[in-house]
Amino acid sequence: MEREFILLKPDTVQRGLVGEIIKRIENTGLKLVAMKFLQVTQDMAEKHYAVHKERPFYPSLVKYITSAPTVAMVVEGPNAVAKTRNIVGATHPKDATPGTIRGDFGIDIGRNLIHASDSVENATYEIGIYFTEEEMVSWDPIRQPWVVE
Ligand code: UDP
Ligand code: MG
Repeated sequence: MEREFILLKPDTVQRGLVGEIIKRIENTGLKLVAMKFLQVTQDMAEKHYAVHKERPFYPSLVKYITSAPTVAMVVEGPNAVAKTRNIVGATHPKDATPGTIRGDFGIDIGRNLIHASDSVENATYEIGIYFTEEEMVSWDPIRQPWVVE
């Protein structure tokens, strides 16, 4: 069982695509365990993207992610990281396959709509920036035996 961290970035909120994108995540069958609407602070952004600190796009990335509200989510299930990354699509929307979120809604790498952790280890780190353990909701979806064998 894996936990995956997802952030619907400011462009998703500003463009009114929150429902559209959550629908796709929900459709996978992965279990929602946490969700909140928030504006990312400078401190949170610096922690989240610490790995990219030396990259040329880092200042604009931090400015973008802190520029307007976002939706943070945690989903859980077998292969949650790979499954989510697959429906998100390639980093640059021009390379993202049609049918993926970035492939269907994006054109610019600096406005690629959604973040999803690239490993279980990074998901654990990122969940810790956005949520407390108490905010993880424990529940049993009635559909579960029809989603996971
Ligand atoms: N990014 C950017 N320009 C680049 C590369 C990345 O603006 O040349 C931004 C983009 O928002 C991307 C984020 O930095 O989603 C993190 O980059 P990463 O390579 O981790 O891509 P991801 O894991 O989001 O696909
Ligand atoms: Mg990444």
